[in-house]
Amino acid sequence: MAPTTRPMPKRCPRCNGPLYVGYDDDLSCLFCGEYVFANPPPPLVQAPPVVQEGPRKRGRPRKNPVAA
Ligand SMILES: [Zn+2]
Repeated sequence: MAPTTRPMPKRCPRCNGPLYVGYDDDLSCLFCGEYVFANPPPPLVQAPPVVQEGPRKRGRPRKNPVAA
């Protein structure tokens, strides 16, 4: 269970190196480049892919082939 608000680390969580403030109060590690988000980025909302029904229904539909 993760708390909604977390304190910003003073050191890099990966290599314990020094952090500097980047964009939007985010922190970047000087040593390993670890990026610590002050505000988690919004999740990418992707539209579901459009599945086009092609004219492929020909012949008799196959039943489930069960290997005997
Ligand atoms: Zn680091």
